[in-house]
Amino acid sequence: MDIKANGVNGILTAQDWSFPVPIMYGPGRLNEIGDQCILLGVINPLIVTDRGSHALPFVKNLKDYLTKAGLKSSLFFDISPNPKDHEIGVGRKAFISGEHDAVIAIGGGSAMDGGKSICLTARNDIDLWDFEYEQPVPKLTANQVFPKLITIPTTAGTGAETESTAMVTHVQKAMKFCVWHPDLKPSLTLLDPELTIGLPAHLTAWTGADALTHAIEAYLVPGFNPLCDGLALEGLALVSKWLQISVNEPQNLEARGGMLVGSCLAGIAFLKGLGMVHAISHMVGAEFDTQHGLTNAIVLPVVLRFNLPGQKEKVQRMGQAMGLHDASSESLIKHIEGILDDIKIPRSLSEIDVPLASAQGIAEKAIFDSAASTNPRIASVAEIRTLTEEAIVKAR
Ligand SMILES: [Zn+2]
Repeated sequence: MDIKANGVNGILTAQDWSFPVPIMYGPGRLNEIGDQCILLGVINPLIVTDRGSHALPFVKNLKDYLTKAGLKSSLFFDISPNPKDHEIGVGRKAFISGEHDAVIAIGGGSAMDGGKSICLTARNDIDLWDFEYEQPVPKLTANQVFPKLITIPTTAGTGAETESTAMVTHVQKAMKFCVWHPDLKPSLTLLDPELTIGLPAHLTAWTGADALTHAIEAYLVPGFNPLCDGLALEGLALVSKWLQISVNEPQNLEARGGMLVGSCLAGIAFLKGLGMVHAISHMVGAEFDTQHGLTNAIVLPVVLRFNLPGQKEKVQRMGQAMGLHDASSESLIKHIEGILDDIKIPRSLSEIDVPLASAQGIAEKAIFDSAASTNPRIASVAEIRTLTEEAIVKAR
């Protein structure tokens, strides 16, 4: 088999690693948010969430805790499941007209991405797309510093709560791009597993499968990064232990806590990068508005069959993290497929209305996604097209 690997930064390569942000974890700790804002000097935050979450109890509870602490706040929730560029523009206007000094992003990945993107543009006139990941980093003047950002994930998860990147759909191009700035870092991430208790089973499954995919894809990114690799494996251990339980026993707070922390660790691990599952899934999501974690979950086994040959040591270590002994790549994939079946993930993208005719277009875009560049195995457009077609017709 001819397997072309992506480039590797080895143990003799100088590298800079940075790690994220203060994290508060524990059931019920949302009630500390007012004090934490005061400690951070925040007096008038804009709460950013998505359309699907704005009426849920955690938004009202957050607002009440802020009011109790004597803080002003207002709510912006015009964010779709795959946040769009024009929505970020509207959020920016809400931030400016409300004279806010911070953003509290609360909700799933779209709320995190929406909140971060609003922060990027809140205090400058720079176009959102100038913050695109592949562009030169925009220079900010002294009075353009980003507002404080607090992240409170209510799904486990996208893992988007500790890092500075956000995925936004460029509506005109029907493509998702990653926007970021290295100086935009959450001042606080609050992990309260009680906030995830009410998440319906299907969303628990889909977002949990996203966390599973992050741990696996981050670990498979080539290069010497023991910090991220350690987090990826521990994230994988937690997610594989608690995912099915959190879907089947929604009130199980231990399972919810394990998933929230596992998802957070996997989210930090992908500072190292992601892989072809995400590259394909980003483009499917941008074109057909499919749910991100669900799309990843369907694509995952197909990409693993492409990526795992030649990864013996990593396969064994992932197997150990998942409680398997002497895992081969096929037994590891079978185990993952068992989890996906258990949590009722469809077996093909066609079941979520992705047509076969779209595969070529998706492949042509996916190859330029930043996640494709860190996939462990180099893939041509033709190979990505084949992977996409398999995922559309029958992924497992
Ligand atoms: Zn993801």
